[in-house]
Amino acid sequence: MKISSFALHSIAIADGPLRSSYGRHAPYALRTIVELRTDDGITGWSETYGGEKPLAALEALRPQIEGMNPFRLAELFSALTNSVAPIADEVRGGRSQTYLVPGENPLDEGLRTFAAIEIACLDIIGKATQQPVCDVIGGRVRDAVPFSAYLFYKDAGGGGLGADARDDEYGEVLSAAACVREARQMIAQYGFREIKLKGGVLPPDVEIDSIRALRQEFGEAYPLRIDPNCAWSVETSVRVGKALRQELSNGGYLEDPCPTLEGMAEVRRQLLEQDVLLASNVAVTNFADVVTARDTEAVQIVLSDPHYWGGLRQMQHLSHVCGLLGRGMSMHSNNHLGLSLMAMTHAAAACANLTYACDTHYPWQTDRDEIVEGGRIRFEDGSVRIPDKPGLGVEIDRDQLERGKERYAGLEYRKRDDAAEMRRHVDPAWERVLPRW
Ligand SMILES: [Mg+2]
Repeated sequence: MKISSFALHSIAIADGPLRSSYGRHAPYALRTIVELRTDDGITGWSETYGGEKPLAALEALRPQIEGMNPFRLAELFSALTNSVAPIADEVRGGRSQTYLVPGENPLDEGLRTFAAIEIACLDIIGKATQQPVCDVIGGRVRDAVPFSAYLFYKDAGGGGLGADARDDEYGEVLSAAACVREARQMIAQYGFREIKLKGGVLPPDVEIDSIRALRQEFGEAYPLRIDPNCAWSVETSVRVGKALRQELSNGGYLEDPCPTLEGMAEVRRQLLEQDVLLASNVAVTNFADVVTARDTEAVQIVLSDPHYWGGLRQMQHLSHVCGLLGRGMSMHSNNHLGLSLMAMTHAAAACANLTYACDTHYPWQTDRDEIVEGGRIRFEDGSVRIPDKPGLGVEIDRDQLERGKERYAGLEYRKRDDAAEMRRHVDPAWERVLPRW
């Protein structure tokens, strides 16, 4: 079997004005859809980061992809990631994404590019063998994958522009009370059983109030986590951790409260008595960081993500390594459609040491943007089931794909810039300052 054609589709999907320490989301998020077709007529799909740079990195691989046997992935992995070289000491802790949005770390470009190809190849392999992707990579340990309610502070607006604007399902969310309303709505619709709040947006005391209000509303049965994306100093992180020690215990965690692994290690040391666990997708982005995170106890829970850890099989390795090193594992997310959601679901289904519900931005996208046939993926009790279908279990609606490409073609930007969006709409002088509080 050979890959006979390789197509890349740049699309834009409407996105609401969600806030984080990066700034504010633009009216459209950018994604790239990879389409591989084999000489015997099987098509494999994947979804990855959008915009000019990820597209150029994938396009540069064309000579290697065309004619490649989709079953033979290890050679491509080695070529793109230098995987057999020992990890240099300076790389340990040197890949922090503190000042980068996920998906933009230049050191991990090869892993991201490989992941996009791997996932489409696994879709092909699954279709060729009539097996779901999670079973192709060694077999599932669960039939359904739990996700968390991913709450954001946000301005009013549902994303998109002009006649293409989406309904604003959740309205403005800039207070503890609005946060509870947002959570209630999202949980009623999807049935999530764990709650994550993206923080680092409002003064820490307002965010403490939000977490307390969520605990009061939902009780201890709903574990809580907060992720301020490095917006707090070590001192503030410790203060918030102490204030929220009850709310963040019993299955919850504090995610990337401050910059750097050293900062996280100090926060953990000062919160040891409170037993607040720290999670990271900013300070820990590669296998060497996991070792450092264990050695210094900076991070107890590693956030995986097949899109930038190098695909589904690297996530299985990560799950194993985290188990060996006594770390828990959850999953990070970016804005995505159903194709990425299915890759995340198959990956998580095949990771034995996934100890927390995964993040997903899926509630923030709408059926108008969805490109999988049959519309949006359904959640049952906050989980996505592995479909009884080969490959990733979804096909692509080409009309919807075309609409996404038209939206992309009409946009002026080709790169995510949350700070510029913040300056445009909220504060002309806004800069990303870390830590802010
Ligand atoms: Mg995070």
